[in-house]
Amino acid sequence: MASSSTHQVPSLIRCQLMTLLKNMGGSEPRLVKAATEQLNKLPFYHSFWNHTTRPSLDLAKELISMFTAREMGKVFFTNSGSEANDSQVKIVWYYNNALGRPKKKNIISRTQSYHGTTFISASLSGLPTLHQDFDLPGRFVLHTDCPHYWRFHLPGETEEEFATRLADNLENLILKQGPETIAAFIAEPVIGAGGVILPPKTYFEKIQAVVKKYDILFIVDEVITGFGRLGTMFGSDLYNIKPDLVSLAKALSSAYAPIGAILVSPEISDVIHSHSNKLGTFAHGFTYSGHPVSCAVALEALKIYRERDIPGHVTHVAQRFQEGIKAFAAGSPIVGETRGVGLLIATEFTDNKSPYELFPFEWGVGEIFGQECKKRGMMVKVLGNLIAMSPPLIITREEIDKLVSIYGEALKATE
Ligand code: PLP
Repeated sequence: MASSSTHQVPSLIRCQLMTLLKNMGGSEPRLVKAATEQLNKLPFYHSFWNHTTRPSLDLAKELISMFTAREMGKVFFTNSGSEANDSQVKIVWYYNNALGRPKKKNIISRTQSYHGTTFISASLSGLPTLHQDFDLPGRFVLHTDCPHYWRFHLPGETEEEFATRLADNLENLILKQGPETIAAFIAEPVIGAGGVILPPKTYFEKIQAVVKKYDILFIVDEVITGFGRLGTMFGSDLYNIKPDLVSLAKALSSAYAPIGAILVSPEISDVIHSHSNKLGTFAHGFTYSGHPVSCAVALEALKIYRERDIPGHVTHVAQRFQEGIKAFAAGSPIVGETRGVGLLIATEFTDNKSPYELFPFEWGVGEIFGQECKKRGMMVKVLGNLIAMSPPLIITREEIDKLVSIYGEALKATE
């Protein structure tokens, strides 16, 4: 099922959603060197059952110091974002069992969210195609509203009023199920694969107040938004999210080696630590958790993000990116909404600019636009009637100008 199409496109600008992974583009020599040196030094030793390696320890320390939205206590390494979110649920359950709250197990997620494809992560995701015929979601997952203002606001409702309504709906869901049964709420700061959906004004402030009120943990899924994509190091910095647990992957190693991570608050890690001491172990982990080569590459990636001030660079170029795309989209009769932040943007194709008259899926408007881009040497991610773009974070202003002009030409050709 793997595709090799990116190698067949004769272009410098590969603006596919997959480049969410490759913050540093595809030819960063420092990342290659870090991998080679570690392979020569110690290609593998496990980080499990009280064993670990220097790169894994150093990376954990670095992640704790980088995540400043709130204090974090410990790091748990996985091989992917799906494994990170899967592990989050096990950690939350273990924590509640340790506290003697065996009923507090359900997790609330949002429709249209994407959290991965393993059993638990796909259950958390709010996309029907991930559930259909897989007998998902699992019965411990509840879904609440997708915060897409343009699609779902009521006539005359402001963004703030929409956010209040969604927070009220969340509270009603919690009360209906019983707060003693709800363990955690999980959210991406900006929904990525579900259509680049930005939170409406005041959304996270109101949602966090609700979950806090009922002693529900907040898991932030920063697999896409972590490490500069939105112009801040983490999405939590941009939206003032103070999570209890954080999921990371993708740009953690700029995709040069597979790795994911979970950051756990000190309160949770203390409980887990003392409980696992009683049981003799915390029996969860993977053969390749904290793989030394992946950790060495990730450490070097983080060093580059800091040294080159990648969030600062994103902020610097993002205005041109966002304004350029939005200017073309505003004049187009087939664009309903263009939304984005930092180096992440989506265009949704509709008739009459209406959120209620989406083009039928089978017309394949996103696909036609994607083909028009490809003809001109640019790849975009097609998601039904919408397309998403997320260039590498090292993109220059000149490359952005080229990208924007290809977007404009492809849009005209699609109309
Ligand atoms: N969470 C989010 C927000 C993602 O976008 C993704 C992947 O796109 C995942 C989790 C799953 O990560 P992985 O594909 O590494 O399992």
